[in-house]
Amino acid sequence: MTAIGAALATAGLYQRELNSERQRHRALAQEHSLLGTRLQASERLSALLECEVERLKPVRKVTGIVVHHSESPFGDVPTVDAWHRERGFSQIGYHYLICNGQGGLDGEIQFGRDEDVQGAHAKANFRNEGTLGVCLVGTDQFTTAQKKSLQELLLHLCRRHGLTPGPQTIQRHHEQCPGTAFDLAGIIAGVQGHLARN
Ligand SMILES: [Zn+2]
Repeated sequence: MTAIGAALATAGLYQRELNSERQRHRALAQEHSLLGTRLQASERLSALLECEVERLKPVRKVTGIVVHHSESPFGDVPTVDAWHRERGFSQIGYHYLICNGQGGLDGEIQFGRDEDVQGAHAKANFRNEGTLGVCLVGTDQFTTAQKKSLQELLLHLCRRHGLTPGPQTIQRHHEQCPGTAFDLAGIIAGVQGHLARN
């Protein structure tokens, strides 16, 4: 090989090395920009998620739950809603209704007033403020399914609103409501037991 030939060969080698180095840099740059896109996307997603979490937060500070009966052998949300509107309420006063099979399925939990709206169920001592109203359809006798649903609903509401279940946070409306023989303390104990186990 002549001196020029050798120089050209070396230059060619150098050129190839330079090209492969450039390629490596381009690949790295592309990877970085892809990573940048992915980071931006995940930041956008987490911002969206935060908005969603904020949106789903309860607006009203709930400090307790008041349990009632409907004082009727039957009922569901549309029926009780009509009764309450007749009494001049804007809509059903309770936040939840637990059916007994006479209008609504036995043990079915129906949604009444929105949780973020103050209820109309326990006017005395301003108990509507800060409480949720839960109503069992019936007067003195409630079905096993209703009691089971009540316990599950109370558990869910305590978790959702950070309440410690007890006689302070879960109250009867008054002595006759719900039903004189109704064992609310037993239901509360069930909720406490479940929370302690989980
Ligand atoms: Zn009541």
